Amino acid sequence: MTKNIAVLTSGGDAPGMNAGIRAVVRSAIHSGMKVWGVERGYQGLIDNRLVEMDGRSVSGIINRGGTILHSARCEAFLVPAGRERAAKTLLDRDIDGLVVIGGDGTYRGAAALYEEHGIRCVGMPGTIDNDIGGTDFTIGYDTALNTAVEAIDRLRDTADSHDRIFFVEVMGRHSGYLAMMSGIAGGAEAVLVPETPTDIGVLVDRLRACRDRGKTSSIVVVAEGDEAGNASEIAAKVSEQSEFTDQRVTVIGHLQRGGSPTAWDRILASRLGVAAVEALVEGQSNVMAALNGGEVILRPFSDTWEVKSAFDPRCVRIADVLAT
Ligand code: ADP
Repeated sequence: MTKNIAVLTSGGDAPGMNAGIRAVVRSAIHSGMKVWGVERGYQGLIDNRLVEMDGRSVSGIINRGGTILHSARCEAFLVPAGRERAAKTLLDRDIDGLVVIGGDGTYRGAAALYEEHGIRCVGMPGTIDNDIGGTDFTIGYDTALNTAVEAIDRLRDTADSHDRIFFVEVMGRHSGYLAMMSGIAGGAEAVLVPETPTDIGVLVDRLRACRDRGKTSSIVVVAEGDEAGNASEIAAKVSEQSEFTDQRVTVIGHLQRGGSPTAWDRILASRLGVAAVEALVEGQSNVMAALNGGEVILRPFSDTWEVKSAFDPRCVRIADVLAT
């Protein structure tokens, strides 16, 4: 039975990762295990940067954004020699279980670590993008959504005052999920996402229709991965093809990654953290603690690569209908 485990955060940081670390540390101790925190993701395993954690070392972090363990991307872990050094760091301390908080790239690394060195790995989904297959929600998404909506609300005030169009760029790598939900919650006149084709002519027609129905300002939410370009490029194309020239562009950017996690993200991280440790106690590996229809379940890592993430094209219609 596993006696010693470690926890790390990897890939892009997300608010709520600290709540996840806290949950893993405290539930491991509760189960009679020792637990180490690994600094800077897989790089910390290679560099032997581990600290033993106790209940007090995670005091006062449930409300803090970022990750106290720091996160990193690690090229060396992509090759077997790097993973061998990482495994040695763990095995020298008799650690045979690892909780990884991150995205699908992180799980690919974890799967290789298990396959090559037998270190059992359990994942927790952490990213603001909510683009990991097999879970309804990821840790950090709700906080980022609320940050984006607050920004849109503020921009609406100034857009209204000056009868302007605002183009607001929302993060999400290749996924439009965060942008779509931000647009629905912020009452945007249009939402442009990579999952659906963007046609500047159609967008211009929509902005005209909104104006003709009496709207004096408009908000266009642009997902950072939209295939028609970033918010500035799309704004420029709209001005070239229309009479709309009084426009402003705001990129919310990394503001979406920071901040105190919402209650939802803290609760999600806490539930998934307890489930991840229980999975290790049961002897499981290569599974992610996930939310499925309100229930916490374990999904194979392969689902995170093979199952499509939560983007629902019906939301495009909802955003369109409600923007009229
Ligand atoms: P995320 O986990 O958010 O998807 P990345 O894709 O950047 O973020 O992956 C995080 C880290 O996981 C990488 O820096 C690398 O160390 C490791 N990793 C990613 N893909 C693989 C892979 N195919 N094999 C081994 N390790 C990987």
